[in-house]
Amino acid sequence: MGNLDNLWKLQEIRKKFLGLKKREQEALNNPEEKNIKGKMDALRCEYDVLNLKIKGIERDLKKREMDCKALEEKKQNLQEELYRGNGNAKELSGIQQQLEKTEEEHLAAEEDIMGFSEELEALNKDAAKLNQDISQLENRLGVLQANLEVELQEIRHEIKQVKRAHKEVLSNIDEKTLNIYNKKFNQYSITTVAKVSGGLCMGCKVHLPRYLIAEVKKRDVLVGCENCGRILYYPNQEELKA
Ligand SMILES: [Zn+2]
Repeated sequence: MGNLDNLWKLQEIRKKFLGLKKREQEALNNPEEKNIKGKMDALRCEYDVLNLKIKGIERDLKKREMDCKALEEKKQNLQEELYRGNGNAKELSGIQQQLEKTEEEHLAAEEDIMGFSEELEALNKDAAKLNQDISQLENRLGVLQANLEVELQEIRHEIKQVKRAHKEVLSNIDEKTLNIYNKKFNQYSITTVAKVSGGLCMGCKVHLPRYLIAEVKKRDVLVGCENCGRILYYPNQEELKA
C-alpha cells in the first residue's frame, strides 16, 4: 500500500476514533439518565416534605388522643359525682355545667381525631404513590445504567482496537510524508486528506485542473489542492467500488 493509501487509512482511523470518543462522552452524559435522576431527586424531596407533614400530624393526633382519654375520665368522674348527688343545688349545678363543658371538649377532641385520621390516611396514600413512582424510576435507571455500561465497554474495546490500528498505520508512513500531513492536520484535522471526485477537491469543492488530477492519479506523490492546500487523494479501485 502506498503512502497515500496509508494516509487515507490514517484519516479514516482518526475519524473513527473521534466518533467513538463522542459516543463515549454521550454514554457518560446520557440525557435520559440525567432526566431520570432529576425526577428522582424531585420526588424524593417531595417525599421528605410529605413525611415531615405526616410525622407532625401523627404527633397532633397522639396528643388529641391523650386529651380525649383524659376528658373521657374527667367526664366519668363528673357523672359519678353528679349521680352521688352530694352537695347543695348550687354545687350540683356547677358540676353539671362542668360536665357539659367537658362533654363539648371531648366532642371537639373526637372531631379532631377523626379529621387528623382522615388527613393521615390521604397523606399516607400519597406517600405510598410517591414511593411507588420512585422505585419505578429506580428500576428504569438501573436498566438504563446497565445498558450504558455495556455500551461503554464496547466503545472502549473499539477505542483500544482503533488505537492499535492507528499505531500500525503510522508505522507504515514515511517520516517526510507524516511531517507534511501533521502540519496540515493542525489546520484541517480529519479532513486533511481530500478525495478527488468528479474533478473536484472534496475538501473545498473547487474544480481541479486536469494536469493536477493526472498527478494525483499517479498515487505516489503528495499533491496539494491549489485552492485549499489539502492533500489530494485519488481513491483506489476498491474504494471506488464501495
Ligand atoms: Zn481543495
